Amino acid sequence: MRTIISRQGWEARPPKKPFTQLKKWRVQGIVVHHSGVKEAPKGIAALKAFERFHMDSRGWNAIAYNWLVDPEGVVYAGRGAGIVSGATKGWNSRTESICYTGWGFVEIPQAARDSIRWLIGDIQSRYEDKLWVKGHRDLGNSTCPGNWLYDWVTSGMPMPLGDPNKIDWDGIKAHVDRLREKVSHSPLSTTKRSRGEAVRAAQERLSDLGFSPGPVDGIYGKKSAKAVKDFQKSFEAFLKPDGVVGLQTWDALFGGWATAAFI
Ligand SMILES: [Zn+2]
Repeated sequence: MRTIISRQGWEARPPKKPFTQLKKWRVQGIVVHHSGVKEAPKGIAALKAFERFHMDSRGWNAIAYNWLVDPEGVVYAGRGAGIVSGATKGWNSRTESICYTGWGFVEIPQAARDSIRWLIGDIQSRYEDKLWVKGHRDLGNSTCPGNWLYDWVTSGMPMPLGDPNKIDWDGIKAHVDRLREKVSHSPLSTTKRSRGEAVRAAQERLSDLGFSPGPVDGIYGKKSAKAVKDFQKSFEAFLKPDGVVGLQTWDALFGGWATAAFI
């Protein structure tokens, strides 16, 4: 059994007008999407970004998808179960939709695959296992959900060989969450001369993502600030490029791991 982060859990904005219920007898399938962005925001930041885009830029009723799954495998309710969605033109009254919040053109992490497979099973169980599963590109003029994810979904979501569950995800999550708590009280900056574990974790993550924070030494110097600024610029629409690691930037860096507080 898995936990789904509810709309309340990720602090979704209320819909502009009440949601419309799907007519169960009309529902034929499940449609899989992806973010369509290579460096998409992570975790709840991705949900907030979709919500802003769909409600404010597109003028839609709410975040478009029924469900979202992030690269760490965290599952979120978008509009939730049995609701008409807004992501698949012409099919929104006949499908439930899932969006992978990462980039589906390349192999997606095992945790995300496990969650998508589980979620599809869970949806199927509400419809007597009679739904087809397609990619957005099957139903519209789109490359969504990316070649890798599309192939995996339409080939029946094969399981990997070997045991993918040996990594101590809970331990890593708890650690990142403790650091997040610290950052919420004192953001990382050069003016504060920040030092310690949170700085080290941020430097390690920046360097993994291809930014150059200088040595991973737990000291927040000019190089760290510059790398943070570059990272923030890659999320231009969502983050202010001020070189300071506050909560928003932290969440963009660490994504789904930071959502443990809501589970
Ligand atoms: Zn799509």
